[in-house]
Amino acid sequence: MSLAQGGGVNIVGAGLAGALLAVLLARRGLRVTLYERRPDPRQTSPERGRSINLALAARGIRALERAGVMPQVEPLLIPMRGRMVHELSGKVALQPYGQRVHEVIYSVGRADLNRVLIGEALRHASVSVQFNQSCTGVDPARNLLQLRSQAVPLAPTIATDGAGSAVRGSLAAAGLLEVREEWLDHDYKEFTIPAGAGGAHALEREALHIWPRGGFMLIALPNTDGSFTATLFLARSGTHSFAALTTPAAAEQFFAREFPDALPLMPRLREEFARHPQGQLGTVHAAPWHAAGQVLLLGDAAHAIVPFHGQGMNAAFEDCVALNEVLDEASDDGHDWDEVFAAFEARRRPNAAAIARMAVENYTEMRDTVLDATYLRRKTIAMQLERRFPERFIPRYSMVMFHPEIPYAEALRRGAVQAQILAELDAGDEAASAARAASAQAERLVSERLTPLAGG
Ligand code: FAD
Repeated sequence: MSLAQGGGVNIVGAGLAGALLAVLLARRGLRVTLYERRPDPRQTSPERGRSINLALAARGIRALERAGVMPQVEPLLIPMRGRMVHELSGKVALQPYGQRVHEVIYSVGRADLNRVLIGEALRHASVSVQFNQSCTGVDPARNLLQLRSQAVPLAPTIATDGAGSAVRGSLAAAGLLEVREEWLDHDYKEFTIPAGAGGAHALEREALHIWPRGGFMLIALPNTDGSFTATLFLARSGTHSFAALTTPAAAEQFFAREFPDALPLMPRLREEFARHPQGQLGTVHAAPWHAAGQVLLLGDAAHAIVPFHGQGMNAAFEDCVALNEVLDEASDDGHDWDEVFAAFEARRRPNAAAIARMAVENYTEMRDTVLDATYLRRKTIAMQLERRFPERFIPRYSMVMFHPEIPYAEALRRGAVQAQILAELDAGDEAASAARAASAQAERLVSERLTPLAGG
């Protein structure tokens, strides 16, 4: 179907990506119908089971700005300036995320953000949302989008129905795409650190707190109501595992042993351990992302990733902008959705693969190496090189979190080159490494191996 004809687009799933995409498409004058299986989140309390808050970084912010919704989102955000690392000894230290004032990430409540985005989408007369409308799949042969209670014409349909996408499942069942789900052997569970006296945060407010313990970790992100949401990431089975925590009392003993400074802040630990779901984490590999010129998978439906780089939502938002840009580039006549979907996939697939890989790698970094002397020394060298050669050397974490102009795939590629440079400059102790980072050898390595970044 041509872009000029029809004008109506179905979006399955009014979650984070679906709602933002609806805003962007409506701003182009397209008519959008969203089908969402849950009730209207603006009128009900959120369902439990997904992360309560998320880290929003520059890629997500750029997308929200493009959609013109940042002023509405801003009041929901709490800046997090770095990782506040809680060692077992009780020592607590902040590791800043970046070295410039604006290099921070933001904690945002999922439900609040979703409510704002749905509200913004519905400000456009051309957008409608059908809540309590579960999609059961698509039938490209008969041109139908199947909902629990009815079927509607299919083309074009964009599936933003998340990691467990029913649309993706139905396309795979019809042999139109292949899916591989790679599950992590670690699960997660969320707990509350309530606000202290007078609504004050019980821990430093503007930080992402981490209790790294090698094979597992606890993290906590601040909420605007003074509470924190803490998440335990732990193996499913084995010595230190969810399976070993057979009762809420055993969970409490585990926390007392491993996270002694966090436990007193978690008065509902036993009750929440018993009641809260144990979530699974994994990476979804699907190919292709589009079928029959009528259906496109976007966001988690296309490429769900593990949450350790805090980038799943950011990547999904970046997808929305990428699709909008492809539509900008397509002329109104002559191009069709098939071409648009194919161009979108070509642009995003290498980037989705890169962030999926970096997200898995970041789990080891967060739970383990943040306390490792080599890691800390090389991080210091990286910061020094960034100050010396800002147009060529930007630490990989910073490229991913603070530099949306650098695609994920390029961040992965440059990150590998940089890791090699850091290894060569690492002299085994801090003073000698700092001297090497200031040397002509460092200048030669950086200028020979790293091209200048555009606009750097
Ligand atoms: P979703 O947000 O999952 O939205 C899918 C929507 O579709 C939902 O509204 C759902 O109800 C609806 N739906 C599902 N099935 C159907 C159906 N059959 N019919 C109709 N509607 C349907 N990302 C970050 O960027 N930063 C973080 O810090 C971060 N932390 C995370 C922590 C955890 C523990 C987890 C699990 C994820 C985290 N993520 C994070 C990833 C982030 O949650 C996802 O990448 C993001 O939600 C993807 O958005 P989406 O719109 O594609 O999918």
